[in-house]
Amino acid sequence: MRIGSILLGLLLGTGVFAPLDAGAQTAQRVIALDARLAGDASRTRLVIDLNKKIDVRAYTIANPNRVVVDLPEVSFDLPVGAGKQTRGLVSAFRYGQFAPGKARIVIDLREPVKIDKTFVIAAQEDQPARLVIDLVRTDLASFQKSAIVPERPQSLAAKTQPKQQTSDPRPLIVIDPGHGGPDVGAIAGTGDEEKEVVLEVAKKLRDQLLKTNRYRVVMTRNDDTFVSLDERVAIARSNAASLFISIHADSLSKGAGEASGATIYTLSERASDSEAQRLADKENDSDKSAGYLSQQPDDVANILFDLAQRDTKNNSALFARTLVGSLKSSARLHKSPLRAAGFVVLKSPDVPSVLVELGYLSSPEDLRQMTSEAWREKVTVSMVEAIDKFFAGRTPAVAGR
Ligand SMILES: [Zn+2]
Repeated sequence: MRIGSILLGLLLGTGVFAPLDAGAQTAQRVIALDARLAGDASRTRLVIDLNKKIDVRAYTIANPNRVVVDLPEVSFDLPVGAGKQTRGLVSAFRYGQFAPGKARIVIDLREPVKIDKTFVIAAQEDQPARLVIDLVRTDLASFQKSAIVPERPQSLAAKTQPKQQTSDPRPLIVIDPGHGGPDVGAIAGTGDEEKEVVLEVAKKLRDQLLKTNRYRVVMTRNDDTFVSLDERVAIARSNAASLFISIHADSLSKGAGEASGATIYTLSERASDSEAQRLADKENDSDKSAGYLSQQPDDVANILFDLAQRDTKNNSALFARTLVGSLKSSARLHKSPLRAAGFVVLKSPDVPSVLVELGYLSSPEDLRQMTSEAWREKVTVSMVEAIDKFFAGRTPAVAGR
């Protein structure tokens, strides 16, 4: 009897726990644990260690030439600096969340390649599961023939549905932390990435604004996920935002001189100077660096400027000046802190929009500040002050358009 009940208990135990175990197995999150490159300029292999086997799809895209690897949801727990070394045919690779339930690795190429093999090996004994991508060198014509046009992520439609009318009269501010996911933005010599630095400042600004109880806030991203430039604009417009603030950090490449301090940009058909043009070109390449093909024509800035309403332009310029005034007390400003260029993300015809470059990741002093909690606090307090000034004197109905 006693043995019988133990047996029954064991059976019940098995009965109860087996399905739970199976459930945990299927829900187990996929983790990328390590990554390495091997080979030379004729054949290069990328290996990613995973905690379990997954399905992947790899393909090439052109202009710029890249290999894109689409994965299901994966958490990247790779060693610091992974993807930043050059080897063989690969100049670097980036990775991150691309869309809900979808991760992506983007491989930057030094030469045109053909994807020779892509496969995933299940875990065996002491070996983790491994994703293997073999690239072989090819000529440019063959590369271009096999390169595909990437599809638009599904998330755009869902995120940009017109929002319900609200009776809340408080101005709605859209905060736009630049980059995200496989689009890492500028990288500091220390390995700090623009997408992380700007997200922290954006969150801080959100918290400071909400604390005043005078504003509603929508973030274009709250985590390390890719959001296309079109999508960012659509979020501002569909929310009928009263103000759009895009947050970035710049970087100068080695040998390009030195620069430091914050700069506020507004949309302009003609860049205010060649530096502003360089920056707009770089920021407008955001979609491409995540392997996402936007439907923007190449000379997008020219078309955009005509679309923007005069009123919106005036308000964008007014806010930019106000922000420079407020930031003077808390941040080091660039020697010409008010500039303009053709930024895609500033194109909303009906939402006053500015792009803040907090500083330069290539400047050790700027980097130290941008990664400091005290500085972030100080700077976002100044931003709120500028926002208050901008909306002061306007009735809520006007402020809310
Ligand atoms: Zn940026």
